[in-house]
Parts: sequence; structure tokens; C-alpha cells
Amino acid sequence: MSQAVCILGATGSIGQSTLKILEQHPETYTVFAVTAQSRIQELAQICQKYQPKVAVVPSSKVDELSQLLSKLGISGVEILSDEAGLIAVAEHQDVDVVMAAIVGAAGLLPTLAAVKAGKRVLLANKEALVMSGDIMMQAARDHGALLLPVDSEHNAIFQCLPQNYFDAERHGKPKLGVSQILLTASGGPFLNHSLEQLQSVTPAQACKHPNWSMGQKISVDSATLMNKGLELIEACHLFAVEEQYVTVVVHPESIIHSMVQYVDGSTLAQMGNPDMCTPIAHALAWPKRIQTHVPPLNLFEIAQLNFQAPDVEHFPALKLARQAMKSGGIAPTILNAANEIAVAAFLQQKIGFTQISQVAEHALNSVANQAADSLQTIVEADQKVRVLAQQYVVNIGS
Ligand code: NDP
Ligand code: MG
Repeated sequence: MSQAVCILGATGSIGQSTLKILEQHPETYTVFAVTAQSRIQELAQICQKYQPKVAVVPSSKVDELSQLLSKLGISGVEILSDEAGLIAVAEHQDVDVVMAAIVGAAGLLPTLAAVKAGKRVLLANKEALVMSGDIMMQAARDHGALLLPVDSEHNAIFQCLPQNYFDAERHGKPKLGVSQILLTASGGPFLNHSLEQLQSVTPAQACKHPNWSMGQKISVDSATLMNKGLELIEACHLFAVEEQYVTVVVHPESIIHSMVQYVDGSTLAQMGNPDMCTPIAHALAWPKRIQTHVPPLNLFEIAQLNFQAPDVEHFPALKLARQAMKSGGIAPTILNAANEIAVAAFLQQKIGFTQISQVAEHALNSVANQAADSLQTIVEADQKVRVLAQQYVVNIGS
């Protein structure tokens, strides 16, 4: 029987790659629900091609979508709206698989709803896990959800870990012979730039990643290395290890997607061409493997793989994230919220590139840490930090 898939963030980069894979396997998967925030025209086209049962948009866009659908002669797509609509499709009883591919904190409650409904959740929306950490991991265990990493590094680590790793106790130390997780980073478009050069880089340059084609927010995060910082936190939660067991390795070719080291001296790596379709297909079908269009690696053509240590002086975001993970509590939520505001301000050219991590640092220094003991605490902290970071952006902005 085919599996019904809900794609949260269907109009985005991950959403589109997911649709591409589903299209290749029409017997195995059907598209049940798709969601969008601003690209309504694209969503209407997706509805035309994949004929989902439900589409979710902001309430201000319902009329626009409805008109577009009737113009295209499409009937039978129920339109839901806002966060309540996102949650309704994420936990819908007819849904088997949820692709969590909304960007940022906006994805938290829908992703958590999918987890609490015990779905197979393909996690791209790393910010949701960074914010809710233990709460999301515990909810997955309590409700029997299968939380599978789509982020290429975490998917690689998942592939390199022993199969029974997730059955073992979660105590902050690597287990079953694992000694260290090596999280690879491309270094982004500004690897080896001087501090002076970094001060004048533009949003267009920041969004031009050398190896991956991604949404704007994660592209900027990759350029500041905040993405690697968020991924460090993501890895600690997914694999139940403290931050000192995760080493960041800059690997500019993005061929090795991450590695796991074992006590016997072995290092296992997962490799492939940099295309998100591979980790998406892996998470969709696990423990099976399904075909994608991604070509196999041509190692003779690649010839060389390079590695270097990250420069945390030029890219302080990574240091801030490690510190936030070490501090625990709501520190990762503070970091994430401030970063979301700072990235949006940078994209609107209100602040410079190097000021992004300053906003995050300011928020971490200004907001008192506390235990992240409930979802309400996390959501309130997120809201509070957004206001504070916004004010700071106005103060330092040009
Ligand atoms: P995009 O910006 O391309 O897509 C984001 C999606 O989320 C779009 O469908 C967008 O709708 C929707 N969205 C944006 N804001 C809201 C909101 N407030 N409420 C509801 N929906 C919203 O991002 P990506 O696809 O690149 O990334 C998605 C997530 O996956 C991020 O968390 C990112 O970190 C993660 N990820 C992405 C990778 C990549 O290669 N792209 C790799 C690894 C992880 P619309 O477009 O209609 O406005
Ligand atoms: Mg990644």
C-alpha cells in the first residue's frame, strides 16, 4: 500500500527536492498535503501536478490560492490556513510520513505535532530541534515517532552509526564503540576570507553557496557557520552526546557528508555528490534504499579531498553555538531566535555580515538562561528574544 506524505514547506528547496523523489516513486508514495507561506502561485502548480487532498497557506492567502486553483480547473483540494492548518495536516490520521521542511521557528509546533502523532518525521527543519531539544526527542520516544535526519550531515552520521545505536541508553556519551562524531562543513562561500573582506560581503554573495543550492536563510547560516553551530546542537540531541564528542571538520568539497569514529581506530564516512535528494530518499525509505537521479561519485574526477579546522575567530557563530549547547536550558532557543532576526536584517541590508553573530552574542549575554522545561517556556523565550534582537538590530544598523 502506498504511503501518504505531508510536505510542510513544499515550495522551498527541500520541499521541491522531496516532490522530485516522490514523483519518481508513484507506486510507493502519494502526496497528501502541501504547505506554503508566500509562493502561492508555485503551490497552485504543485497542487495541479500532485493533486494533494489538502493545501495550507496563511489565511491572508486563502482566496488567492482558491482562485488560482479554480482557474487551473482543480477541484477537491481542501484549503486550510495558518498554524492550526499546519498542525492539522502534520497530525492527520491519514498521513504516514511528514517532511518537516519549514524554515525556522515557524516549523516548531507543526513538527512537534507530527512527532506527537507518532509519524515517520523527516527532519530538515533543524531550528525546531535546536529550540525544543530534549522535549522533541522525548516526545518521539513517548509517541513512537520515527525521527529521521534529512540534514545531510546528520543523515550521514545516522548511516555510519551502528544499527542498534538508538536502542541503547541516552546518557550524553557515545556508545557501542563510537568515540567521536566528525561533523563536516563546507566552510561556505567565504572560507579563507579576511575579517576586512567579511565586513563588506553582500546578501547576494552570501546566498551563493559553492556546493549546495538552498533557501536564503540556510545559505546565510552556512556563510556565517551558524548553520554548523545549529547542526552541532542538532547532532547532540539526535545522537544523545555532549558537545565535546562532536568535532567540526571543514571539508570544502562537500563529498564526505560526515563521519563517525570508533574506539578501534576506524572512521566511517558517508560520501556522495552534494544533492539533498540522497538524504531525503534515505530518510523516506529507511531501512530500504530507493532510486534517485543523483549520479554516483566519480572519484577519479574528484581526485582530492581536503580538510581543515574551522576558524572560530572569523566565524564566531560556531563558538557561540557550542557555548549555548554547553549552557543548555533555553540558550539554544536564544541563539536561534536572535540569529533568525539577524539573518532577516542582513538580507534586508539593515546590518552587515559580521554583525549577524554580534546580534546572537548580544542576546545570549542579555537574556538570563533558564531550564527549557516546557514548550511554553521555549515559545515565550523565542518571542522575547525576537523583540530584543530586533531592537538591537535597529540600534546597530546602518
Ligand atoms: P526555503 O526557504 O527554500 O523553504 C522554506 C519553506 O518554508 C517554504 O516552503 C516557505 O514557504 C515555508 N515557510 C517559510 N516561512 C514560513 C512560515 N512562517 N510559516 C510556514 N511556512 C513557512 O528553505 P529550505 O528548503 O532551504 O530549508 C528548509 C529547512 O530545511 C530549513 O530549516 C533548513 O535549515 C533545512 N535544511 C535545508 C537544506 C537545503 O539544502 N535547502 C539542507 C539541510 C537542512 P514559501 O516559500 O511559500 O514562502
Ligand atoms: Mg547540513
